[in-house]
Amino acid sequence: MPTSVTELMASLGVAPQVLQGGDLATVSPIDGQLLAQVHSTPLNQVAHAAVRAHGAFLRWRLVPAPQRGELVRLLGEELRAHKQQLGQLATLEVGKVSSEGLGEVQEMIDICDFAVGLSRQLCGSTMASERPGHRMMETWHPLGAVGVITAFNFPVAVWAWNAALALVCGNAVVWKPSEKAPLCALAVQALFERACVRFGQPALSRDLNQLVLGHADVGQALVDHPKVALVSATGSTRMGRAVGQAVAARFGRSLLELGGNNAIVVAPSADLDMAVRAVAFAAAGTAGQRCTTARRLIVHADVYGDLVARLKKAYASFRIGAPTEPGTLLGPLIDQAAFEAMQQALVLARQQGGVVTGGERVLQAQYPQAFYVSAALVEMPAQTEVVCHETFAPILYILSYQTLAQAIALNNDVPQGLSSSIFTNDLREAESFLSAAGSDCGISNVNIGTSGAEIGGAFGGEKETGGGRESGSDAWRAYMRRATNTINYSSALPLAQGVRFDI
Ligand code: NAD
Repeated sequence: MPTSVTELMASLGVAPQVLQGGDLATVSPIDGQLLAQVHSTPLNQVAHAAVRAHGAFLRWRLVPAPQRGELVRLLGEELRAHKQQLGQLATLEVGKVSSEGLGEVQEMIDICDFAVGLSRQLCGSTMASERPGHRMMETWHPLGAVGVITAFNFPVAVWAWNAALALVCGNAVVWKPSEKAPLCALAVQALFERACVRFGQPALSRDLNQLVLGHADVGQALVDHPKVALVSATGSTRMGRAVGQAVAARFGRSLLELGGNNAIVVAPSADLDMAVRAVAFAAAGTAGQRCTTARRLIVHADVYGDLVARLKKAYASFRIGAPTEPGTLLGPLIDQAAFEAMQQALVLARQQGGVVTGGERVLQAQYPQAFYVSAALVEMPAQTEVVCHETFAPILYILSYQTLAQAIALNNDVPQGLSSSIFTNDLREAESFLSAAGSDCGISNVNIGTSGAEIGGAFGGEKETGGGRESGSDAWRAYMRRATNTINYSSALPLAQGVRFDI
């Protein structure tokens, strides 16, 4: 295994000179040490990338979809071959524990496999025409250049969810990764370029996925460019509100994957052993830095005391430390701002009647420039303002309920609508939670937690989560445009709805 960042990046195909002398510093949340200084993309080059991507799209759309799938298959092979190194890099740059860094790369491999199959199944419907000798059908065509903006917490997988589908659908991609994770993006781009060389069309392929690095202004330049047909943006609701409005103003399309405020309901019939394990991972795993992290626990009054006591015990046993160390369950927060936001939320929670267990900074002497915390459990008297807000840290607010209707109302009574779950062994309760009158989220689960989705289903949420869907099921349709075709193979020209226009 490579030891230094430079060696690690070299093993992924990134030259050492790319890592020095730039204006964009990347720091490891493990110890606060500088990893590299890369160059951000000048704003005029963002426009250039969009135009080149559009040019690549004009050629790529003529390549049959199953051949486009071959490029994504080769990308999947590169990812398989470099899984260890890329997982290690995600750990180093955003602080994920090793199994989660590797899991993220596995998710990229899975979506590539999915997209390869999809490349032979971009199917449309045929419809019965009301006119004799006519046939109606729909065809699906690529959209153009797709701008992909990603958050720090899934520095490689979210690009793959978007790019693997966008590419088999016949689009080109311009990727603006988080300013906190440029190294992961550079490594993925190098692996993509390897796949392009093996695909045998390096000149075309180079423009098919381009990287633009930098802060929000680089993302804004991409969002505003008229040649970017679709902007797929993953990040905070604040970002999505700005992006969604800017894209809508020029009648572009957007796919928004924004903040969550996910709840787990624990009913009286629940298997509490299972619930404790699921809640612990969903609420504290990834140090609370997943969009699907459980942030609210809604517990039936009959099991409240038992469950909360067990959770406190489980939380006390968490091993907190460097994510590279075997056995670590909680790595660091991404940075000081995340730590301060967490502390501020805990102050507000106390002011709003909450009783806080945990939530302090730990390991400060060992890592003075990094931010490790113990996960917080906060017993709340009601769903107050702070509970309705997504704080991107391991804080779990605990509420009590008496009837399932109350639990569902609490689950739904927040601005976000990403993920939700219920622990119950009562079929009526489970089905009610999943029904139209149940959870209003894009993801609703029974007897598993809110986080850790598989790629086979469509991923995304409602309300302030943005409404977009990525990954599996028919999410590919967001990357294509639908054309309805009516073909007249008769020798007459009847008009629809019996309209007459005789000349
Ligand atoms: P963020 O909103 O700060 O940044 C996300 C990306 O948007 C970055 O690349 C950033 O540079 C860019 N950006 C910010 N403002 C922009 C603007 N006005 N125009 C264009 N680009 C802009 O988010 P973050 O802190 O990196 O990530 C955490 C957030 O992401 C949380 O809210 C989390 O819930 C959310 N998230 C959602 C999903 C999902 O699928 N729903 C997945 C991962 C993360």
